[in-house]
This record gives sequence, C-alpha cells and structure tokens, in this order.
Amino acid sequence: MTPESKNCKTCAQAFTITAKDFEFYEKMGVQAPLFCPDCRFKRRTVWRNEKTLYRRKCALCDKSVITMYHERAVHPVYCNDCWASDKWDPREYAMDFDFNRPFFEQLGQLLRVIPQSATYSSNAAGPNINSEYTNFAGANKDAYLCFNSSINNENIAYSRGLMNARDSFDCYYASGIERVYEGINVQKSNSVRFGHNVVDSLDSWFLMNCSNCTNCFGCVNVRNGQYQFFNEQLSKEEYLNRVSEIVGSYQRLEEMKERFKTHALAFPRRENQNLKAVNSTGNYLTEVKDCHQCFEVEDGENLSYSFSTKITKDCWDMLGHGRKAELALDSVGVGYCQRIIASWWVENGQNIEYSFAVRSSVSELIGCVGLKNAKYCILNKQYEEEEYRKIREHIVRELEDLGLYGSMIPPKYAFFAYNEAIGQDNLPLSKEQAVAEGFMWEDNLPETKGKETLLAEHIPDHISEVKDSILHETLACIQCSRNYRLIPAELTFYRNMLLPIPHNCWQCRFTDRIKRRGPMTIFDRTCAKCSKPIKTSYAPDRPEIVYCESCYQAEVI
Ligand SMILES: [Zn+2]
Ligand SMILES: [Zn+2]
Ligand SMILES: [Zn+2]
Ligand SMILES: [Zn+2]
Repeated sequence: MTPESKNCKTCAQAFTITAKDFEFYEKMGVQAPLFCPDCRFKRRTVWRNEKTLYRRKCALCDKSVITMYHERAVHPVYCNDCWASDKWDPREYAMDFDFNRPFFEQLGQLLRVIPQSATYSSNAAGPNINSEYTNFAGANKDAYLCFNSSINNENIAYSRGLMNARDSFDCYYASGIERVYEGINVQKSNSVRFGHNVVDSLDSWFLMNCSNCTNCFGCVNVRNGQYQFFNEQLSKEEYLNRVSEIVGSYQRLEEMKERFKTHALAFPRRENQNLKAVNSTGNYLTEVKDCHQCFEVEDGENLSYSFSTKITKDCWDMLGHGRKAELALDSVGVGYCQRIIASWWVENGQNIEYSFAVRSSVSELIGCVGLKNAKYCILNKQYEEEEYRKIREHIVRELEDLGLYGSMIPPKYAFFAYNEAIGQDNLPLSKEQAVAEGFMWEDNLPETKGKETLLAEHIPDHISEVKDSILHETLACIQCSRNYRLIPAELTFYRNMLLPIPHNCWQCRFTDRIKRRGPMTIFDRTCAKCSKPIKTSYAPDRPEIVYCESCYQAEVI
C-alpha cells in the first residue's frame, strides 16, 4: 500500500499514514485515523490520570479513599475492594441498544452511571500493600505517590515507571534499583543520587550516560570509573574528602547541580537512549524490534506510536501496561489480551471494542463497562451470538460513516480533564488550547497554598541538623508555592542517603524530571561529528552536542 498524507482533523497538521500503518489497520479491520499521532496520544491521555488524586468516600461502603476521580465525576466511585467484589453487578446497568441514537452518546450515558474503582490497579500484577497513594500500579509494597509502577517495588515514593525497585525516591523509568534518588533511566544500580541514563553503578552522585561506575561524582560518559570527580581522576582519599564536604548540604548540592549542568554540556550525547533496538525509532526503547515512534518501551515487537508498554507485540497507539497484549489499537492500560480496539483497562480478554474496565475472561464485547466473565454483550446487555453480530455490525457501519472506527471515543466522554491526566506532563496545553481541542479542563486541581508552618529559608541546610519535628511542619515549594509535607520514610531515606530536604514540592520535582527526560518527539538532526542524518529527541535548537551511535561509541567506549 502507498503511504498517504493527511491533515489532522484536530490540529490541521499534515501527517503520513505509512504503508505499515495501512497494513496494520487492514489486519484489524479498521479505518485509517483522522487524527495525527500527537492528537491521538492526547485523546488517549484523558483516560489516564495517574497522579492527580482526590479524597472521596466509597459510594458503597462509605470508607474514605484516595481516588483519581474529581467530585465532578457523575458516576459512582467505589473503593477498589468494593469495586472488585460481587456486592454489585454491572449487568444491572444494561441498556437496550437504540438504533436511532448515536452509539457514542449511548456509551457515554452508560459511562456516567456505572461505578468505577477509586484507582486503577492491575489484577494480573498483584495487590498493592500499604500503598494507597498509587495509581496505575500493581504489586507494590509501601509505595507513596508512585504511578505506572508494577511488580516487586518496596519503599518507593514520588516516582513513575519503576520495576524491581527498593528504597528509592524521585525516580522516573528505572528498574533493578536500590537506594536511588533523582534517577531518570537508571538500571541495575545501588546508591546513586542524581543519575540520568546510568547502568550498573554504585555509590555515586550526578552521573550522566555512565555505566559500571563506583564512587564517582559529577561524571559524564564514564565507563568503569572509580573515584572520578567531574571526570577528573582523584585518589581515594582526595575523592572522599571532596565529596564529604558537599553531601548532606542543600546549598552545596544546589551549587553542584548547576556546575554539573554546565559540565555535562561539554560532552557528546547519544542520539537516543535505545538499547538492543532493531529497526526502531523513538527513545528509551529496550530490546525491541520494528517499533516506530515509541517511547519507554521494553520488550516490544512491531509497535507504533506507543508509550510506556512492556512485553507487547503487534500493537498501534498504546498507552501503558501492554503486557502480553497483541493486536491492540488506540487503547489505554490493556494487557493479557488480543484484538482490542479503542478501549480502557482490559485484562484477560479478546475481541473487545469501545469497552472500559472489563476483565477476567471477557470476549466479543462492544460498548461495555465494568463487566467480568462476559461474552456477546453490548452496552452491558447480553445477546445471543447472531443478534450480537447484527448490532455490532450496525455500530461499526455507523462509526465508519463518521470515519472513527478504530479511534477512541471523543474526549468529551472521557473520565479526566486534560490537565489532570498525563498528557499535560508530556504535551502540555493551555486551558484555551485544551478546550479548543475538545478536552475538559479542571480549574480546581487539588492543592493548598499559604498554610506553611516552615519557610524554605528556615529549613536546616544540612540533613544532620534536621530534627524529627519537621514531619509535623507544612512546607511551601519555592517554585510554585504549593504546600507539601514529608512522610516518615522519606526523612529516614534522606538521612541514610545524606540528602538535604528538598525545597520544591513533589509535583515540581516530578515535572522537572519529565522535562529532563526529553520530549516524546523525534527530530531530524545531523551528527555533530560526522554530519550523518540522525533521529533524536534533542530538538535542533538544543545546545547539547549530539552524535550518531557509531561516533558516540567510537569516542566514549
Ligand atoms: Zn493533530
Ligand atoms: Zn467500599
Ligand atoms: Zn512546586
Ligand atoms: Zn556520526
């Protein structure tokens, strides 16, 4: 099939539907989309509010719970236990399909009445223990404000995308880590503070693009280093002396942060952070083959336009989860499933379309919400196979006439406002832009201001001077002035790691990490050494020196 250029129905930008895209759409039996990849991503994100959390009462048992749903959400919110229980039956909400009304309108009506679980937690990954403030997460113990993090994590906070992590705070996209702080893409490392693209390293501070380093401070592009300070080799004694004068102090570490930023700019960067990526484009891809325009993907094959997925094959436009998913399209948080179209939170299912929170052995569903163990249902109503196929065919024809078969339900029916959800972290919009693009906007995001009991300038500079009483204080972020507090595990962590008390709230620290991760956009640039064309997340006007893979490897290793 020949590639086709189109103009996005939302943003009017030209985009290309590639021959590979057409091949996939044909395999799925859907139409090519009307929207560009970025607009499709934005439309999916309003089904993924990871970190904007509210407190509310379970509408069934009255227990107070943390939830991703703002009080404006009209559907009931149940605590996760009530929602997963047999105390209610989603089939009681079944609606007769009305041939004279638009399908999306009817599905939207069902979405407004069916109870939803307070937070998203994957059944398949396992239960979260003592981790109420987590979302889109499973199998975590003692996790606090952690998102999109699953399996074997313990004592973690303020992080996203963690796996096999212990005693680690403020991390983004990391696995196999212990005692890591302010890490972005840190793998198999222990006691690393302020690390970006770090592998197999120990007892270090401020590392960028380093591997196998022990006792290094302020180093870039170092392999197998020991006792290096800002890329200078020191004796063990000299190194330990210099480091001991810095660590634990807020002022000294802030100075080092600034010095490191400047220092790092003098070194070349790899065009991307992909590892064992065959015939693929994107960033932060590990062990993938034939993946295009993908970000933060591990173990993927034949994927396009996908973000934050693991162990996924033959899928387009996926957001999150993805484990053992095949032939899924434009879906959010789906795993252990096959042939899923435009759906949210599907586990253990096949041939599911336009359905939300359906799991535990489900198949042949269209427009269903909250069902378990179900087959041949439309708008939660049970049909015989023949009748099911007839009505489904009608819905598909209707969506095809709109050019929308294969694309997510329009954002006006979404659970979340644009600025509550992860789109705002990755492709931020102003309120005016978001509304113009058809998204909801939430003016009252949860925050408190002006309640501080301790000002930043009165926080002791050195962690050794901080008393336990700080746990009772309310602090104010020096960046956004929002109030924030420390949790006991956090104070213990700072003390053990010789880290000062941060003067920024966790949200500002979180957003700053995403900025430093780089945009989810691939730019054309040329290698600063050999001038070969490269594809990179560093925009052409960025000050970094970017090398193609072969020039980088030749110089650094
Ligand atoms: Zn667009
Ligand atoms: Zn409950
Ligand atoms: Zn802040
Ligand atoms: Zn080059």
